[in-house]
Amino acid sequence: MMENEGFEKKSFEEAADVYVINTCSVTDNADKECRQLVRRIQRRAPESMVVITGCYAQLKPKEIAEIPGVDLVLGAAEKFNIAQHLAALTKGDPAKIHSCDIGEVTGFNSSWSVNDRTRTFLKVQDGCDYSCSFCTIPMARGKSRSDSIENVLRNARELAANGVKEIVLTGVNLGDFGKGPDGNKKHEESFYDLVRLLDEVEGIDRYRISSIEPNLLTNEIIRFVASSKRFMPHFHIPLQSGSNRILALMRRRYKRELYADRVQSIKSLMPHASIGVDVIVGFPGETDEHFKETFDFIHSLDVSYLHVFTYSERANTVALDIEPVVPMHTRHERNKQLRNLSYMKQKYFQEQHKGQTRKVLFEGHEKNGMMEGYTDNYIRVSTPYREEWVNQIVDWNL
Ligand code: SF4
Repeated sequence: MMENEGFEKKSFEEAADVYVINTCSVTDNADKECRQLVRRIQRRAPESMVVITGCYAQLKPKEIAEIPGVDLVLGAAEKFNIAQHLAALTKGDPAKIHSCDIGEVTGFNSSWSVNDRTRTFLKVQDGCDYSCSFCTIPMARGKSRSDSIENVLRNARELAANGVKEIVLTGVNLGDFGKGPDGNKKHEESFYDLVRLLDEVEGIDRYRISSIEPNLLTNEIIRFVASSKRFMPHFHIPLQSGSNRILALMRRRYKRELYADRVQSIKSLMPHASIGVDVIVGFPGETDEHFKETFDFIHSLDVSYLHVFTYSERANTVALDIEPVVPMHTRHERNKQLRNLSYMKQKYFQEQHKGQTRKVLFEGHEKNGMMEGYTDNYIRVSTPYREEWVNQIVDWNL
């Protein structure tokens, strides 16, 4: 957007006229990280304008505006007009805040990552109508809104024309795709409709579904992925806890039985599929027994790797009222145990596929003379760099 307004993109390490820091509220110390980055910018380019956007800017605009060196704080809707807001600024003036109540944020702005020509993250959905008790994302991103299928297809075709081979579909609550730009049901299109139509776009060889709530990952979608040549046998499904009691306290919309059923459906149709799991440890009320339930449950599931998060308190969330609070050292100990389990799962998954030939899409990035790529089922491989393999799908013996 800013390039269209005459700006030129620079690396963060270079001196620039404007720096935009896009903050994240999932990160525990967004505030600290933001301060450090602003300080670095001030040292490097004291005359530059510093703009802060992102979830943290929406949640705590005043706090951010008080950081010395910050010139502009833009909320969830206003960030799409950066150039316009910048034009009205003078360096040295007190920081300006432009943000509105998150409930009023409407509209959908499609976007995709441009760092890598091989693989692109394409945003098709934003916001979330769920109310998980630990989560601030709905407060930072607003109600569930989506792109139209027509627009997503147009973007996919454009990316294909630019040489992109793999698209990762992203959204805050991806499986809830279909609500119109005002959060209504106007589009009347489901995530299933989207994947079916994307599958027909010529030029894109691979799609991945970034992360999808288990209750929204229908058997219809699973069956479709199993029969598709373009959607990869790779799922990332948040579990968060393997205890029904804790799931209820978290206000998640499923029980562990449903999760196990989804994993079973995937594996029965695609035994080679990779399944990643998000899990939170140390949620308030999580006793040793609850944690053991989670550990044993995940141990019993045919999944490939875990992303383990240590619960941390967030302002204005319902979870703050739940007791007893789990001591920090226990949270860390539980995190360690699950990371060990993840390591074992990952090793086992790789062992299972040893000797098989699978298709790898190699990426363009060269590091220490090596290049990397992923198999269809998300096993990472690396090999000495070969120019002719960049952005190519190669048969690879694991
Ligand atoms: S589904 Fe729950 S955890 Fe995910 S963004 Fe929505 S409220 Fe947050």
